[in-house]
Amino acid sequence: MNEWRSRMTDILDGHVHMGPIEQERAMLAAADACGIARTGLVAIQDPWSGEGLPEALYMKWRYPERFYVFAGLNHATRLSQGKVRTESLADQARRFAAIGCDGMKMIEGKPTSRQRMDVPVTDPYFADYWACVEDLGLPIVWHVNDPEEFWDPALTPKWAADRNWGYGPADVQKETLYAEVDEVLARHPNLKITFAHFYFLSADLPRAARFLEAHPNVHLDLAPGVEMLYNISRHPDAGRDFFLRHRDRITLGTDLFSSLTPEQAVARTGITFRWLETQDEFRVPGFADYLLGPPEDGIIRGLSLPDEVLSRIYGKTLMSLAGATPARLDVAGAGALCDDIARIATELSGKEQDTQAAKVARAFKSS
Ligand SMILES: [Zn+2]
Repeated sequence: MNEWRSRMTDILDGHVHMGPIEQERAMLAAADACGIARTGLVAIQDPWSGEGLPEALYMKWRYPERFYVFAGLNHATRLSQGKVRTESLADQARRFAAIGCDGMKMIEGKPTSRQRMDVPVTDPYFADYWACVEDLGLPIVWHVNDPEEFWDPALTPKWAADRNWGYGPADVQKETLYAEVDEVLARHPNLKITFAHFYFLSADLPRAARFLEAHPNVHLDLAPGVEMLYNISRHPDAGRDFFLRHRDRITLGTDLFSSLTPEQAVARTGITFRWLETQDEFRVPGFADYLLGPPEDGIIRGLSLPDEVLSRIYGKTLMSLAGATPARLDVAGAGALCDDIARIATELSGKEQDTQAAKVARAFKSS
């Protein structure tokens, strides 16, 4: 049996990526095929192209009940050594909250992000931002680190190496990134952070447990990294115990993206649902998307979690962080933001381009 859907309803998936607005129908079709009622769009900004955040705001505008938006920062000023003007990071966060974003998305802490902008999150550049987000109580979905295999060329999976997600001694190291996060959490213990991809601690559940116990406002999302499923499947009883013990600290993420076919979307979400809900032993289906790797990579063993625990993972916990329903979008404010993102993209790239940001700004104005 290859097609696997959840037995639960009203599922909120907290980690989904929206591509260009031309993929609006595809996004809905993918989520519908998987039985996902609502999604948190995690919207990293690409400051050179103006992509990332405007498309997510567009979906929130079109389907206000259905899409939460976690907005990424724009670092154009820093990247251009001050030539391109943006608001400070703290002002960006305030503005996102004011126009109806539901939280922040961060990728600062993925080694590739560090290659582009080598500024640790403990740097004074981020100081006001952390204080501001802590004050606002805005939840953050934050991708820090990557699987340890990515630092070892012999172990890096092909699908990751093909994306240049393979690192060497010149790159920032995994423990350095964790130490920087610890410092941020020590300074700002009230930050409400959900670490994406299980914080890449799935190979060491005792460490993951210590981390959660030391930081009561921190959560983990389940977006693959397919290695998470394989790692935890090596010790399914310890895995089940971890999930039962930390049932309030784990949120669903599938890393669904809008360019997937409905069949690929079902394959992607199905492995997570089946892992959490059954006692089956199974493999990634052969028709799954490339980022999940081939079926030969490993065996997944189901955790067979009770419905009460599933309902927390599938939405209740994220709703306690980001609201029972998505915040209302201020369309005029969102349009002005998209205009700014379009201007920044033109200035930073030095190219006149019809950006997603400009398209979304026009759509907002036509309404
Ligand atoms: Zn993601």
